[in-house]
Amino acid sequence: MRVLITGGAGFIGSHLCDRFLADGSRVVAMDNLITGTQDNIAHLAGNRAFEFIYHDVSNFIHVPGPIDAILHFASPASPMDYLKYPIQTLKVGALGTHNALGLARAKNARFLLASTSEVYGDPLVHPQSESYAGNVDLVGPRGVYDEAKRYAEALVMAYHRQHGMETRIVRIFNTYGPRMRLDDGRVVPNFIGQAIRGEALTIYGDGSQTRCFQYIDDLVEGVVRLLQSDFVDPVNIGTTREISVLEFAKIVNGIANNAAGSVFAVGARTEGDPQTRKPDTSRAHAVLNWQPQVELEQGLQLTIRYFRDVLTEPA
Ligand code: UDP
Repeated sequence: MRVLITGGAGFIGSHLCDRFLADGSRVVAMDNLITGTQDNIAHLAGNRAFEFIYHDVSNFIHVPGPIDAILHFASPASPMDYLKYPIQTLKVGALGTHNALGLARAKNARFLLASTSEVYGDPLVHPQSESYAGNVDLVGPRGVYDEAKRYAEALVMAYHRQHGMETRIVRIFNTYGPRMRLDDGRVVPNFIGQAIRGEALTIYGDGSQTRCFQYIDDLVEGVVRLLQSDFVDPVNIGTTREISVLEFAKIVNGIANNAAGSVFAVGARTEGDPQTRKPDTSRAHAVLNWQPQVELEQGLQLTIRYFRDVLTEPA
């Protein structure tokens, strides 16, 4: 197989590069590096099965040679990033997805879209199953990401229905692990960075809002299984261990031995920050025989070790 991974220098994209190379595929990673970084794929330089193309997929995509599968992961994904790049986020979800689908059609390649739990917005149904249509504030600040991904899903289904293309949609819930950017603004790198530096953790609001955190390896396994399956409708991939941000802060402090212990600096919630989020993963279990394997404490240990190394690396 030869696969194209858009967003291949990003957090998730770079782990997918590793996985497909390990499975014996040839990999083309494409990225414009606005939120991704070449550091994530530096270890692949010199691997003859790997190519990197610097390109913004919101512009026409040209890749010579055959491609068997396209995994479309290009997009800012952290709230801070998509608030910083609102137009690019809308463009990559709309134009980028259109270009990537056009390329898949021309190459007769299977297409997998990275969608998101954000399509459910600030959900009024709990947990969220794939049949829930969501509660998105389309003109709120998060609307740029949520609506871009909702449009992308609609476009993928249109290509499937009109052109009979082989398409897959994964709705990714909060995922963490090595290669997240320490400054991407999300709760996992924020808390881990603060805990390692012995600082108070910045809890937004009263910390009662909930999330479920899955380790990157579990997500990658779900994506691979979905790509190989024949299932066209969207599939949630995430853990179902729901914890509040406050509980999460305590767990991070405990594992990182943060001297600041239970000191928390309370900040303001950002507009549209969902109060709860938890996937119904019965579809992933039934269709892909998938369920997460890595416990939160175990995944956090691996991630904290990675960030300690990053923070102590010479500049
Ligand atoms: N959060 C927090 N402190 C931080 C960063 C985030 O309390 O330093 C909270 C944020 O308000 C949200 C949750 O953590 O409720 C998860 O935020 P994140 O940015 O990781 O992603 P989201 O799940 O909102 O897309």
